[in-house]
Amino acid sequence: MTHVFGRSGAALPKAVRGEGCYITDAEGRVYLDGSGGAAVSCLGHSDADVRAAIQAQLEQIAFAHTGFFTSDPAEALADLLIQNAPEGIEKVYLLSGGSEAVEAAIKLARQYFLETGQAGRHRVIARRQSYHGNTLGALAAGGNAWRREKYAPLLVETSHIAPCFEYRFRQEGESAEDYGQRAANELQAEIERLGPETVMAFIAEPVVGATAGAVPAVKGYFKRIREICDHYGILLILDEVMCGMGRTGTLFACEQDGVAPDIVTIAKGLGAGYMPIGAMLCSGAIYDAIAQGSGSFQHGHTYHGHPLAAAAGHAVLTAILGRDLLPQVRARGAALQDALTARLGQHPHVGDIRGRGLFRGVELVADRATKDTFDPGRNVHARVKQAAMDNGLICYPAGGTIDGKRGDHILLAPPYIISEAQIDELTDKLARAIDTGL
Ligand code: PLP
Repeated sequence: MTHVFGRSGAALPKAVRGEGCYITDAEGRVYLDGSGGAAVSCLGHSDADVRAAIQAQLEQIAFAHTGFFTSDPAEALADLLIQNAPEGIEKVYLLSGGSEAVEAAIKLARQYFLETGQAGRHRVIARRQSYHGNTLGALAAGGNAWRREKYAPLLVETSHIAPCFEYRFRQEGESAEDYGQRAANELQAEIERLGPETVMAFIAEPVVGATAGAVPAVKGYFKRIREICDHYGILLILDEVMCGMGRTGTLFACEQDGVAPDIVTIAKGLGAGYMPIGAMLCSGAIYDAIAQGSGSFQHGHTYHGHPLAAAAGHAVLTAILGRDLLPQVRARGAALQDALTARLGQHPHVGDIRGRGLFRGVELVADRATKDTFDPGRNVHARVKQAAMDNGLICYPAGGTIDGKRGDHILLAPPYIISEAQIDELTDKLARAIDTGL
């Protein structure tokens, strides 16, 4: 009997080895990692450079508290991130994961407004069908009803506007562009409803991951969101914990939307699974307001800026940029979309196949014509996940809520090093898992 308190009640196979895009369990079964766990393992499981960087740092010093010291890997990682960050982003706060990064972003926004004499600004507006993490602040921002339900009394009140989700919400006869403007204008209406002087930030994932299955916004949506935020003096927080670090084919997903945020969060692909690490990056304007005000961000965790994690993050980022993996993500991402469309595009229970780069979602529906979701009791996404595992494939099941009903999406986020042959293997195994799992 295991004493590990895991998230699943079921007995799980024990992972014992990782090699490239594959994981082997204790029984010798081999799984193609088609989702990098949860969009984490972007370099695969045995990257020699990342392992060497962690080892080298371990030989120097494993830990030095950020209350007393900075470290070479933390400085190097922050420099490299800023050299490649969206316009205006100038400072990096290193953390241990995505939820921590989102918590820090929300607290930084609040402190910024306190220090600039706008103490009345405290409200966050987010979107339905979004996920920002499992800690209480991040969970309150997230719009996934199922994840929030049990903890509702503990969550600070947050407004949730509609997501930008073309497949579900663009109306008959409406152009994609008009739909994007309509969806973005919900933010303006909500700010007006709440009172602009009370709102501090809007938070969104540029490509929605865990609760929707790789849903990018339509062209123009985020530009309009940026305009609205600027008009009301509200900070735009983009959560790129899942879609950042090259996952969509550009280092930051928002580059493809032509906008720069005031604060951006990253995590998963930054450590690529070799170390737990996340980061919150902010504009020079926010940093300066605090530096010239109270002088310090009133926040911190024992392990933030951990040298081993920073060494891993620096090696991962160096690999993504130095090995030219971004064009490869774009090319293999297009190949994956094509393979999925060829294999599943006409499947009676596949409603949509979408995404950017190596971040793809397959939406499963009871009826293609009506887009009706399956009965949640059938747990379709979980069944497909199990069927895929039985078939030697890891894919991420996402059960986001669509207008109060749970939908079923399969999220694919394979390592950037996936080969064309492995894309075929992934598609083939997924197609079989959908048929057996349904
Ligand atoms: N934000 C987004 C967009 C995520 O997808 C996740 C995790 O899936 C988080 C935040 C939380 O990150 P973590 O699980 O590292 O705390």
